[in-house]
Amino acid sequence: LSIPNISLHDGTEIPQLGVGVFKVDPGEAQRVVEESIEVGYRHIDTAAIYRNEAEVGAAIAASGVPREELFVTTKLWNSDQTRGEEAFQESLDKLGLDRVDLYLVHWPQPMFGEALTAWRSLINIHESGRATSIGVSNFEISDLEEIISETGIVPTVNQIELHPLHQRRELVEYCNSKGIRVEAWGPLAQGKSDLFERPALVEPAAAHGKTPAQVILRWHVQQDRIIFPKTVRPERLVENARIFDFELTAAEMSAIDALDVQHNFGTNPHEMD
Ligand code: NAD
Repeated sequence: LSIPNISLHDGTEIPQLGVGVFKVDPGEAQRVVEESIEVGYRHIDTAAIYRNEAEVGAAIAASGVPREELFVTTKLWNSDQTRGEEAFQESLDKLGLDRVDLYLVHWPQPMFGEALTAWRSLINIHESGRATSIGVSNFEISDLEEIISETGIVPTVNQIELHPLHQRRELVEYCNSKGIRVEAWGPLAQGKSDLFERPALVEPAAAHGKTPAQVILRWHVQQDRIIFPKTVRPERLVENARIFDFELTAAEMSAIDALDVQHNFGTNPHEMD
């Protein structure tokens, strides 16, 4: 597998495709991550709340791949926003690492107003060298503006729900204007929709000899997004990575763009009770 890197504004590089382990049971996470690394993945996206950091760490240790060749992301959970440094150390301990490549504030939680405190602790962690890059997740424009104007430090990435049914154009444009890379979570709409049967995906899939899932992932890649589709099936790990050997035409891209109905499957923190 050959997976290209994308550069972040702090000068580091991230593999554009990784594997995500949300809702992968601890019992299965080690196998999935080991298999991912085995077939060529080098980027793993986890989070404290996924409760599988220890298994991710065990898989990294067992892989025999040098640490510097791997890119590991984890995230600060909501209830830990005022104890960021301690929570980060707990994540490192579970992962069995002395550094992560990317550490994110998982949700802004505007109702508690602690995202800025959390962001300041990530800045300290970054300065200590224990998180090579720092960023955020699920931040809306107003959340981003607050932390940038208060600290002057721009997150390297914003990891947001983004797929053909929910394209977040205004937010993506804002991130692009600030040099913030967009990481698309739920890139396949979490497998919860009829997307895989839509003509806008089925037709290019047939034309390129690919699957609708590969077409969706390719649509993300052609927009310079970072993705880490989740699967626990070895054959899909390989399928999801075979997306760098074909190109969707402009017409095929626009047909997928037209699927946007602004339907999200996750939660919007600004609409939470
Ligand atoms: P996803 O869009 O990656 O969907 C995963 C589902 O898609 C699988 O369970 C399976 O049903 C299906 N699927 C995967 N590969 C397929 C294939 N080749 N063909 C057909 N179906 C396929 O959803 P996700 O897991 O929610 O998102 C990916 C990653 O994003 C997560 O694992 C996690 O790392 C991250 N994430 C982050 C947040 C956040 O708040 N920051 C939230 C959710 C997910």
